[in-house]
Amino acid sequence: MTEFCSPFPLPSIPDDLTIPQFFLEGYTHPNSTVRKDPTDVWFIDDATGRQVTFGELRVRTDHLTLGLAASCDIKDGAVVLFFSPNHIDYVLAIWAFQRLGAIVATGNPMYTSEELVHLLRLSKATRIVTDARFLGPVHSALAATGLPSSAVILLDIAEMPAPSGIKTISELVSVGEQSQLAVPNQKLEPGGGKTKAALIFFSSGTSGKPKAVALSHYAVLANIIQLTAQHRDGTRPRALPQWAFLPGDVVTGLLPFFHVYGLIVNVYWTCFLGLILDVVPKFSLSTFLTSITKYRISHLILVPPHIVLMCKDPSVGSRDYGHVKSIFSGGASISVPLMTQATQLFPNASISQGYGMSEVIIAALPDPGDPEPDGGSCGKMLPGFVAKVLKADGSYGGPGEEGELVMTGPSVGMGYLGDQEGNKSTFVNGWVHSGDEVRFSEDGKLFIVDRLKELIKVRGFQVAPAELEDHLMAHPYVADVCVISILDDYSGELPLALVVPSAAAKTAIDDGKGSEIKAAIQKHVSDHKVKDKWLAGGVRFIEVVPKSPSGKLLRRILRDKVRSENGAV
Ligand code: AMP
Repeated sequence: MTEFCSPFPLPSIPDDLTIPQFFLEGYTHPNSTVRKDPTDVWFIDDATGRQVTFGELRVRTDHLTLGLAASCDIKDGAVVLFFSPNHIDYVLAIWAFQRLGAIVATGNPMYTSEELVHLLRLSKATRIVTDARFLGPVHSALAATGLPSSAVILLDIAEMPAPSGIKTISELVSVGEQSQLAVPNQKLEPGGGKTKAALIFFSSGTSGKPKAVALSHYAVLANIIQLTAQHRDGTRPRALPQWAFLPGDVVTGLLPFFHVYGLIVNVYWTCFLGLILDVVPKFSLSTFLTSITKYRISHLILVPPHIVLMCKDPSVGSRDYGHVKSIFSGGASISVPLMTQATQLFPNASISQGYGMSEVIIAALPDPGDPEPDGGSCGKMLPGFVAKVLKADGSYGGPGEEGELVMTGPSVGMGYLGDQEGNKSTFVNGWVHSGDEVRFSEDGKLFIVDRLKELIKVRGFQVAPAELEDHLMAHPYVADVCVISILDDYSGELPLALVVPSAAAKTAIDDGKGSEIKAAIQKHVSDHKVKDKWLAGGVRFIEVVPKSPSGKLLRRILRDKVRSENGAV
């Protein structure tokens, strides 16, 4: 059996530190170029240009920790759900909660109140951190889950003052400033970082509805160090010096911090490298392009739709982006021609894509001396990962053979909260079954071939077909349904519902009202779900949803049939 691993050893990983201790205290790792002088700038607020130094970050985190301890009674192991766009205080607020032993779950703030209720129930969160613009859905979700309104803490935003009676981060910082106490700072026993949960991300895994994936402090720190090993390993050739992430370089911070790729790669990894993060709450192409020149951004961390937009917009080519040294894409597949187009816009930049999933964080990344836009690979497994290719016949494949990627490593998550079935099929004796069909080249480069699992990725965001199917089955026009994805240039994929119409719907269709029925079905989704889940791929009527003898939807057969009818294979 062939195992695919990095030729480079795994550097040491602390197993007795929490994430805030790792970043905020005197700890230094040999792979790190983190900048911890009090005057070193860590973050820029994209809208205002305000800079946050390491000294300010640390003091504000201390004060917030004290303020929370004094006013909010945060218990060890309590779950706090962040429901907010990127914010200059987002990261320090996570660290303040974690210092008190809390676990932070991060949700998409564009979710509807019904979706938020689901996240609260899944994660068993007892507090929500949001901003004043999201109080509508938050209040409805509180009412549905029985949480008190005192569970809400607001991140301060210029656009809208916080209503009185709801605590804000700034107020809690002021409370902390008055405190005479020492900053509470949870200490872990040796090995304790492996069993202490730090973060919860939401992922549907290989099948079914979204689940809450818990990651330990150790797993997160391991992944940051694994990622850095790719760049700091002294034995590696640096064929492209411009690839280097130099301390003090500015990097985009526009990926949503609620996603594993946004928080761990875009924020934690870049902090560890000593980069300055330009914190952007909401992506807009024109602001993004302005910020690249305004803040002399050197590194762009993106998802494929950002790159599609840039390549399609004629205004992009008219500026000088000579200072951009690297473009990194992840979260979904990016085509080789698109990567080549991007390098034409940014002539001094190398481009590469990595591969990861919430359950293991980042698993593969190109060698810095060897980014390979022509090959379309996701690089090699990070040091510490071991990967196998599980073929359809149950045996394991060697180089060039296709099968499911199965992997293990120090950053593997603790599992799905309260979901035995999901854990049984995805986390098998420490090995994660990715649900992605892959192949490795002779020299160990990973190529994603297809997705075997039920997941749809729209603009890099997860859409679980099972969640949409459950929701659609409740509609009177739907007798049975299968949700698949069609390919789309910008979004990557779009959900399409193949609906077996109910008797009532059939009568209306026979009366020539098919498009009204389709519109009603689409509205049923758009009224209740975040935009990524809308049926932008359309609704089609079918006679029967094909199922296996055990009753499993033959989703892939339908998907491939529709894609080949659409001319995309
Ligand atoms: P998430 O947990 O939201 O990060 O989603 C993980 C899934 O995104 C993976 O299992 C893949 O299906 C997909 N994915 C991530 N990176 C890539 C990539 N570079 N190419 C293709 N698919 C990717």
